[in-house]
Amino acid sequence: MSTSLVHPEVVDAHIHVMPDRVWRDPAAVAAADPWFAACHAGKQRLAGEDDLLRHLDEERIDRAVVFTWPFADPRLCAEANDWVAALQRRHLGRIAGCGIVQPADPGAAEELRRCARLGLRGVGELNADAQGFALDGDELARLAALSTELDLPWTLHCSEPVGHAYPGKGTATPDRLVRFLDRAGGLRVVAAHLGGGLPLYAHMPEVRELCTRVWFDTAALPHLYRPSALRAMATLVGAERLLLGTDFPLLGLARYRRALDEAGLDETELGLILGGSAAAVWRW
Ligand SMILES: [Zn+2]
Repeated sequence: MSTSLVHPEVVDAHIHVMPDRVWRDPAAVAAADPWFAACHAGKQRLAGEDDLLRHLDEERIDRAVVFTWPFADPRLCAEANDWVAALQRRHLGRIAGCGIVQPADPGAAEELRRCARLGLRGVGELNADAQGFALDGDELARLAALSTELDLPWTLHCSEPVGHAYPGKGTATPDRLVRFLDRAGGLRVVAAHLGGGLPLYAHMPEVRELCTRVWFDTAALPHLYRPSALRAMATLVGAERLLLGTDFPLLGLARYRRALDEAGLDETELGLILGGSAAAVWRW
């Protein structure tokens, strides 16, 4: 079955595009931000606006949820937010820009309010390892409550507690994620990278309760799992909770289309994963 015929709208819910300051001097950003440096060592490339538009055009993606990066420096987060808001204004309806805040910074709440005033559609990809914040901390719970009020859903980087090591994997494993969700109130949360495997535990009644406002994106799936994982995830949580996310520029869409074609999903499930499920998160 060809995935291109299934749903009229294709949404890529996990894309990283770098703001101007990173382009001006990536070495300076890398020198001050060990996580950024580790993730962009070697041949891992950066994407700018032109790369993003080429990705959307060539892969026939209708909408993109665009993040910058989980910078540790709150000033760089603020600059990135101005930049992604301007990007969104240039491509209204096609690009949903997400803000980034440094939860460990005392100014994070004000920056969240500023993201809402800028018209950004969500927050992400927050990363506890990259930014050095506690997933079970009081401050994160307060920021989650404020984001609920501002209607800014979060995308959170998650990690598998098992399997091979790789740059950017981190320690945001399902046990830690659940401690955050326990205090996240009504916030809509996208647990990136299939939530590090959390959908399995969502079959425990108490965890299922915590997952009522959680979606799971496919970012980096071809590097981590066989396509059969998609079938299993769709059975575990329902395709309406699964979102296509490529992690571009890490990967393009072709590898995901192959995995989706091989996963044994029906047309309804494919349509939801490719684009249908995303509307409930970002409400366009
Ligand atoms: Zn991630």
